[in-house]
Amino acid sequence: LIGDAIAVELGLTLVEQGNEQFWLLILRDVSERQRVDRLKQQFIATLSHELRTPLTSIIGSLKMLQSSQFAAVDERAFPLLEIADRNASRLLHMVNELLDLNKAAAGALQLELGVYPLLTLLAEFVEENQGYAAKYDVDLQLYVEIDATCEIRTDKMRFGQIMSNLISNACKYSPARSEVKVIASTADSVWQIIVQDRGPGIAGSFLPHLFDPFTQADASDSRLYGGTGLGLAISRQLCSALGGTISYQAAQGGGSEFIVLLPLKGA
Ligand code: ADP
Repeated sequence: LIGDAIAVELGLTLVEQGNEQFWLLILRDVSERQRVDRLKQQFIATLSHELRTPLTSIIGSLKMLQSSQFAAVDERAFPLLEIADRNASRLLHMVNELLDLNKAAAGALQLELGVYPLLTLLAEFVEENQGYAAKYDVDLQLYVEIDATCEIRTDKMRFGQIMSNLISNACKYSPARSEVKVIASTADSVWQIIVQDRGPGIAGSFLPHLFDPFTQADASDSRLYGGTGLGLAISRQLCSALGGTISYQAAQGGGSEFIVLLPLKGA
């Protein structure tokens, strides 16, 4: 009945009929769904690659026009070049995010694992995001409840990407002069890294969609903040690729807490 090319999902449900109970075994043919998923992933991968090359060349050319090499460029054109450059860079960032998400969802992410002192790594990630904190006038601090000698086996670039997504969100949604905390500890055989802010928190109605791609609590045209709604979806896929999880809880005293758990033994 079940050939090689057919993918099947099994489900088992307990059914009650009068005084009797039955196990209901459900076999669901999911081949078509998987085929469509594969096509969708291939389409996104091809499109993103095709978009990346011309975009990179547009950004390169704009940067050259902005540089002192081209003294002949009319000064009045500079603000326009700056706008074009900023928006092309945003587009490239979005294309890269889409590629990452697609790869991670297909389980095709290539991890480059290494062993690192966790504290040094976190201090580096926090340092890298200080520019963001300054932009939003936020005090970004690292709090550690772990030993300086603790090591983690992970993909540094991907781990950094998760932390950057969380820290930049925390800064972006924080009121000026408030504190964003990165708190590292261990609990039940996992590393626990919390990014805490004093922003508005996440409304209950938005919570079920928080980690879905392309979702934003404020999706209106007039929204205050830019962004793609991809950061948290990517962070969740990356955490899972590193053998961990990511979750949200409201912070005591107001604000958000994003909790990253990574296995002590590493990815
Ligand atoms: P982006 O930041 O690009 O919009 P994300 O996937 O990172 O996309 O976040 C999705 C949405 O979740 C954001 O648009 C915002 O509405 C909400 N969000 C994320 N982090 C926070 C935070 N620290 N405080 C309040 N809202 C947040």
